[in-house]
Amino acid sequence: MSEERRAELQRRLAAVRGRIEAACAAAGRDAREVALLAVTKTVPAADVAILLDLGLAAFGENRAQEAAAKVGEVARLRPLADPAWHFVGVLQRNKVRMVLPWVTRVESVDSARLVDTLATAIRRARDEGVRKDPVRVLLQYSVDGDPARGGVRLEGPDGLLALAEHVAGRAELQLDGLMSVAPLDADPDVAFADIAKAAVRLRAEHPGATELSAGMSGDLDVAIRYGSTGVRVGTALVGERRIASQ
Ligand SMILES: *Cc1c(COP(=O)(O)O)cnc(C)c1O
Repeated sequence: MSEERRAELQRRLAAVRGRIEAACAAAGRDAREVALLAVTKTVPAADVAILLDLGLAAFGENRAQEAAAKVGEVARLRPLADPAWHFVGVLQRNKVRMVLPWVTRVESVDSARLVDTLATAIRRARDEGVRKDPVRVLLQYSVDGDPARGGVRLEGPDGLLALAEHVAGRAELQLDGLMSVAPLDADPDVAFADIAKAAVRLRAEHPGATELSAGMSGDLDVAIRYGSTGVRVGTALVGERRIASQ
């Protein structure tokens, strides 16, 4: 069973890598410019261990409790591995302390309140010896302002550029760039062109914010055409989800 699963994950990973390479070739880009984040929400730790064996190094989770348990299990299964864990879902402020011992990057920062909570909790975690490094963050941009998907628009007092200023003043956080989820019902070319434009605006004011996390199983090819530096892939990589999410 586990050998079967390993073979399946290997085949799926090869297919995803093939898509990334083809999209990069078509766009005249180097495939090494596009990082692959394996979104492993609702996937058991045993699968993450296999993906580590297959060479993946970064994993995305969207629920603090499920992730905290999985991080521990993966550490037991592969004690020598040092995976990066990215948080890609809505991060409730009362769950911030739960993710700080292991999170590398929070990709879904979309409010000043969350920034403040993160900064305070990181300072405390440092004092308590729970973590040394700053938390890397991506600001989540919303193409259409739909609150269900999260993210903020570009301009305005609560917008992405204002939020970037808020993050830039805090040593506990490192602003890496922008993340976005393209609306399902939108023309992908229009959506990703808009996302790319927002990323350029952010980078113009914050030269260190070079990352653009955009593209998932269904649209990673288009996202790469519009300059994505990181794709977040779940379904295409792991197939049907295995464990119930809580
Ligand atoms: C689940 C999820 C993904 C992966 O989506 P797939 O379509 O399964 O590849 C990417 N980004 C976020 C924010 C997600 O929640």
